Order: sequence, then structure tokens, then C-alpha cells
Amino acid sequence: MYFREIIGQEALKNRIREEIQGGKVSHAQLFLGKNGYGSLAMAMAYAQYLMCENRQPTDACGECNTCKKNDRNVHPDVHHIFPVVQAVQKRTEPLMGEWREQLMGGPYFTELSWIRRMDKEIRTPIIGNEEIKDMMHKFALTSFEGGYRVFIIWKAEAMNVTFANKILKSLEEPQPKTLILLVAEDAEELLPTVLSRTQLKKVNRLAFDEVVDYLTREKGMSSSLAQSLAARYDGDVARILESESEHEAADLFREMFIAMMRHCYQKKVIEMMDWAEDISSMKREEQKEYLTYCLHMIRQSILRNYTGEQLFQVSDEEASFLTKFSRFITGNNIHDFMKVFSDAHYHIERNANSKILFTDLAFKTMRFIHFA
Ligand SMILES: [Zn+2]
Repeated sequence: MYFREIIGQEALKNRIREEIQGGKVSHAQLFLGKNGYGSLAMAMAYAQYLMCENRQPTDACGECNTCKKNDRNVHPDVHHIFPVVQAVQKRTEPLMGEWREQLMGGPYFTELSWIRRMDKEIRTPIIGNEEIKDMMHKFALTSFEGGYRVFIIWKAEAMNVTFANKILKSLEEPQPKTLILLVAEDAEELLPTVLSRTQLKKVNRLAFDEVVDYLTREKGMSSSLAQSLAARYDGDVARILESESEHEAADLFREMFIAMMRHCYQKKVIEMMDWAEDISSMKREEQKEYLTYCLHMIRQSILRNYTGEQLFQVSDEEASFLTKFSRFITGNNIHDFMKVFSDAHYHIERNANSKILFTDLAFKTMRFIHFA
């Protein structure tokens, strides 16, 4: 991965180049930010620049042996650790082929697309116990090619506590020329001790114009489509690039959202319970996506109320529903709405009983709608 392949993030790129050129290489670093802002890409570019045999002022050379291996993600001293669905595989090693394929599609991808690649049932992946053994084994070895060794841990939030504690030991007792680069989106889900022992590299949200420029220049989108997607997905390039494959899901989500709001408005309790039953039969990752979609629709409703059509980022079908529905989302209930839907997302992620959760969510929604 090269710095030139990463959208924006110029300040961070400069900082990294200066550190590496100045020999200030911290053995434990945390690349914190969404994958769609380039957090994994940045960790990979860091490794490639550090290891390059003929480092250029702004980027790795692309021609040395190390670069050639890193281009194909086959360098024996760069170890990738990532979450895997335990029912499919307990360790990352047998999934390296799939992982390389994922990386070849570009560094901007969501966790969901990775899960889909390895598991049709879309179960939640973790970094588990078997992985610890593998990593500790590799950690005890020396470098294959005599240079730096880099362990890139993607989605460090998915580390179980045992793994995190083992990592901590490694963070406390650094080995020469051995780096651990953690990549995470949510600092709150990491152990405070992990946070305090790593050097933070914050990967910030991309500017609207940078995203629009990338989508029009590199992906050939029209500027109106690029602007609409950049706004809708808040500059998260991974989600934008995957949004095409999500259109089908978007149709389903829209129908479910409309059904939910209609039943709740009409106080049709039996239909609400059926709706909760339906959604609880969906995969957990899809339930999370659905709740994210609901939050988007609720936010759009309030925007429509306060700014008219101006900042409204929805499809035509969604617009026609929200034209009637948005009056039910007001300053009186917006906070309650946002809170219960965010909380639901939080609890689904932590394996709450989804039937109880969605039933409860429907009843709360019914109450809020009638307090507009
Ligand atoms: Zn090179």
C-alpha cells in the first residue's frame, strides 16, 4: 500500500514520513478511525514505507524486493491478524487467501463485506484464543528477511480479553525491530491499558470535497451522485463503494421501516409483534445495518423539518414516504428516538435477545410518535 493510494490525510502522512525518516519508530501504535477513512490503508502504507529498501521522500519506491512482496501482501514479515467467524475458522491462517483477495479489492471496505466473504450466515467474527497461540508463536520467532517485522491487527476491538492481555505483555516488552500496529474504529471498546501503551495515530473523517473528488476522478461518478453519496455516508468511502451492492438491502430496509412506522402510528399491536418477529429472524449483522438505516431516516426527517429539501439526502422512494412521515419527528421526541435506536444497535452487538429488543423498540416508537 502506498501513501499515494490513500485519499487525503495529508497531515498524518507527513507525520508518518517524518517519524520514519527520523528513525522515531514506536513499537506499538494505534491507527484509530473508520476503515472508510483509511485506517487500515494507513497502517499498511506505514509498514511498506518503513520496510522499503529504497525509500523515496514521499512514498515507498515500488520497485525493491520488499515493495514487490508488500504489493501482493505476501511479505513473510508482515503479519495480518483480523477477526474471523469462529464457526468457520478459529484462526486467520487458513483464511489468508480470502483476506488477500479482500485487500486486492482496495483498502476501503467494511467489516460486513469481510464477514460476507467468509461466512454466508454473516455471523459476528472475533479474534479468538487460537489466534493468540499463532501470534505468540510468530512473535517468538525472528524476522525472516532480517529487517523489520510488523503485526497489523485489524479491528482490534474484536480481540477477546485474553488476547488483549497477551498483546499487552508484548506491548510492555518490545522486541527489537518488531512493531504492533493496531487498527480500530472505536477507542471505547479497547482496554484502557491497551490505549495507554500505544502511540495514537488518529485517522480523521475525510473532507467532503476530498471524497467527491475521489469518486468523480477515480470511480468515474457524476458529481451529483458523488455529492449525494458523500453526504449520505458521511464521507465513509468504504460504505459508499459498497452502497451499490446494498441497494437491494436498502429496498428491504425501506419497506421494513415504513411498515414499522405505520403499525406504530396506528397502534396495531399484533402487527408490531409480527414485525418484531420478522426482523429477529434476520442475521444479527443485518439487524445492525437496519438500525443504522433507521437512524439515517430519523436524522433525515428532522433535517427535512428544519432545512426543507436542501440537506435532504435520500432516494426518491424514501423522500415520498418522509414527506408525510417527517412531521412525526420533532424537537420533542428526536432525542428519544436517536437514543433508543442507538441503544438497540449497541445491545444487538452484544448479543441481546433480538425478539425482546425489537418488540420493546416498537412499543417505544409507538409512544414517541404520539408525542410529536
Ligand atoms: Zn521499495
